[in-house]
Amino acid sequence: MKLLIAQMQHETNTFSPVPTPWEAFGKNGPYLGDEALQAMRGTRMAIGAFIDIAEAAGAQIVLPVAGYASPSGPVDGAAYDRFCQLICDAAAKGCDAIMLDLHGAMVVADRTDDGEGTLLEKLRAVAPQTPIAVSLDLHANVTPAMVRHCDILTGYKTYPHVDMYESGELAGRILIRMLAGEVKPVMAFGQRPLLAQTLCMNTDEQPMKSFVGAAREEEKKKGILAATAFGGFPAADIHDAGLSAVVVADGDAEQALLACDRMLGIAWSRKEDYVYHGEPLDRAVARAKQLEAETGGPILLLDHADNCASGATQDTMHVLKAALDQGLTGIAVGPIRDPETVDACVRAGVGASVKVKVGGKMDMPQIQVTGEPLPLEGVVRSITDGEYTITGPQLTGVRCYMGRTVVLDTGAAEIVITERNQEPWDRGVFTSVGIDPTRKRFLLLKSRMYYRPVFLPIAKGAVLCDGVGVGSSDNSIFRFEKVRRPMYPLDTGFA
Ligand SMILES: [Zn+2]
Repeated sequence: MKLLIAQMQHETNTFSPVPTPWEAFGKNGPYLGDEALQAMRGTRMAIGAFIDIAEAAGAQIVLPVAGYASPSGPVDGAAYDRFCQLICDAAAKGCDAIMLDLHGAMVVADRTDDGEGTLLEKLRAVAPQTPIAVSLDLHANVTPAMVRHCDILTGYKTYPHVDMYESGELAGRILIRMLAGEVKPVMAFGQRPLLAQTLCMNTDEQPMKSFVGAAREEEKKKGILAATAFGGFPAADIHDAGLSAVVVADGDAEQALLACDRMLGIAWSRKEDYVYHGEPLDRAVARAKQLEAETGGPILLLDHADNCASGATQDTMHVLKAALDQGLTGIAVGPIRDPETVDACVRAGVGASVKVKVGGKMDMPQIQVTGEPLPLEGVVRSITDGEYTITGPQLTGVRCYMGRTVVLDTGAAEIVITERNQEPWDRGVFTSVGIDPTRKRFLLLKSRMYYRPVFLPIAKGAVLCDGVGVGSSDNSIFRFEKVRRPMYPLDTGFA
């Protein structure tokens, strides 16, 4: 048996000015061929499960490409073409089945608003009889084309995503059973006109808990092979943005459709809870200061609007400025993406005192914001290559590349500044540059959700700080033109 496996993952924020070239999908681009197999084997991503399942089945594995890029603006057209070509060329040579680790919210500049649906359509054209299993992210903006052009579709059931592997395992196992003639997967797909905020999608809390819970209940039923609750990704001005569900049943399309409708009904009944209501930044910082005075640190300052895992520039300075203005000290910040300041600090060298203008290097024309650097004085504490391996519990084993990385110590704050954008996935963003996050009074994280499994266990408290950025949870700053209407909460009059 010959199985084709590939990964092409990108969550596109169509309001983001951050470019997404081929090189963004890895250290210098995606892994290719044998290197891809070596790098992906043993990871806790969906593709790691695909490899395990294929090897357990004694299959020959063809793995032409595997790449994951941090969320950012639309993917470069030529980069997308290259992904499609590598995967479709491999499929054209013949294989028994295909397993794809995709995101489900990829938008491609000058090509398509549906990166995954378009890839699957191309794949079906070159291998019309070959079964295809797909694992998507919980934030997928699932489209009819994605569902039409594959046989099995699953997605993560946790956010933060700690079950990427399990989603791949579920899709892969159904595929193997399908190949053995044991099951006949049929799928149902449905949407609700709900632009849900990712900040309101923590699967341990409502409203997402009941939506995902409904999927798990459906999966316990005889005849249901997989059921997935997709929250969608709201910073995407595309027709199919928003909440959806996909159910895979064994031969019974009607059963799949009924299950899908039940799940969507549960989500829709809590639609108000998918909208975020924040507080003024100064008040949030004051609250954090008070909290630290009462309990000690670290207290997490969550600069969620500038979260690069939602495609933000990761260089707005509003939250740090508010913290310094209110006299907070013992802060570790990070990471801030600012290649110019990294370069200036590297040239100055470790131990040098520098005056730099940190952050604010990117304008955000889509939300009418001009970059505002923050002038700071400090000492360069460290210079590293910015590489570390994630210790978990999410993306365990994945190697991360922040580019050249420096720590600027201003006295009140130790700021991790990187060349490349990097979600604070892991304590490694601090420990790899010599900062022990457990010893700080405040941790200012450009994080929306991923701080939970990693930093919450070492924190005494966490405060959402509504700064500035294209990862904002405030719909009113975005101008939507392509998303289908009416759409809650952009429009009123819904029952
Ligand atoms: Zn996601």
